[in-house]
Amino acid sequence: MVSIPVFDGHNDTLLRLRREGWLGFFERAERGHIDLPRAREGGFGGGLFACFAPNREDGRRGGDAIATLAEGDASPLDPHRAREVAGALAEELFGLEARSGGSLRVVRTAGEIEACLREGVLAAVLHFEGAENLGPDPSALEEFHERGLRSLGLVWSRPNAYGHGVPFRFPSSPDTGPGLTEAGRELVRECNRLGVLVDLSHLNERGFWDVARITEAPLVATHSNAHALCPASRNLTDRQLDAIRDSDGIVGVNFAVGFLRPDGAEEEDTPLGEIARHVDYLVGRLGIERVGFGSDFDGAKVPRALCDVSGLPRLLEALRERGYGEPELRKLAHENWLRVLRATWGA
Ligand code: ZN
Repeated sequence: MVSIPVFDGHNDTLLRLRREGWLGFFERAERGHIDLPRAREGGFGGGLFACFAPNREDGRRGGDAIATLAEGDASPLDPHRAREVAGALAEELFGLEARSGGSLRVVRTAGEIEACLREGVLAAVLHFEGAENLGPDPSALEEFHERGLRSLGLVWSRPNAYGHGVPFRFPSSPDTGPGLTEAGRELVRECNRLGVLVDLSHLNERGFWDVARITEAPLVATHSNAHALCPASRNLTDRQLDAIRDSDGIVGVNFAVGFLRPDGAEEEDTPLGEIARHVDYLVGRLGIERVGFGSDFDGAKVPRALCDVSGLPRLLEALRERGYGEPELRKLAHENWLRVLRATWGA
């Protein structure tokens, strides 16, 4: 069986590497979820590489998990500090590209991603998780776009000048606070103008509907699941899913066990079937054309059966056993992401 390359909506590998002193992306390691050798083993063709500035840098985990463990850490972050950290992470991504000998490419168009998938080059999309990363002046978006930024989450799970992220709660509705600020609404228009993807994962529900009203691009949640199956605040209600469907957008299925399981438990002994259950539900709601993956690798606890990025073929096999054929698997693995990115970026 020829393995199908996976293009993925979210990883926190840059933050993990920063915490580990930028050791070992090019050698196979046991720690973390993504390095180049394991990416190749798993058929991981690339994805959105998040630049995320945590409130504290002493935690061992990044991304979603750190706040799940310590919700009190989700206070607003000084935008000067956020820009310093995110800018450093972005520079390190370009550093990885430079040191990769052609095996990793920072991509700016859908055509470049397609070329990478064909050539076996790891495709990295520069993504900011939280618009405080732009610094105190949002006009920096244009500058970062010129350098390669193609995706922006308006918020992480904390408030900022643009909107309010969902705190990590279980069980909880995602309707946890006010919508976008005027600066947030303006930033959505600016993203549309430049062709920067606006990521809805981590945004609260009122902010979601504000984006839905303003944006001209497909609605995208890079790493979120179905609230009907796992009532975490980070997951999407059926109404939100219907809006994503109507915009011809996409949901990237998150592998974080706490966003998969009906009980929301941070339990590694979670079967791969829990991921498949969300895929089934989302496909039922959105259609096979509007579901992809958004692993949260290196930012969350994933099922032990997956282990890390090298386990992706086991997930595809589990989906095959559930009746997904090769054309459907190719859509889920990368074709749907490519369609939405092309529509959003205009290339
Ligand atoms: Zn996240």
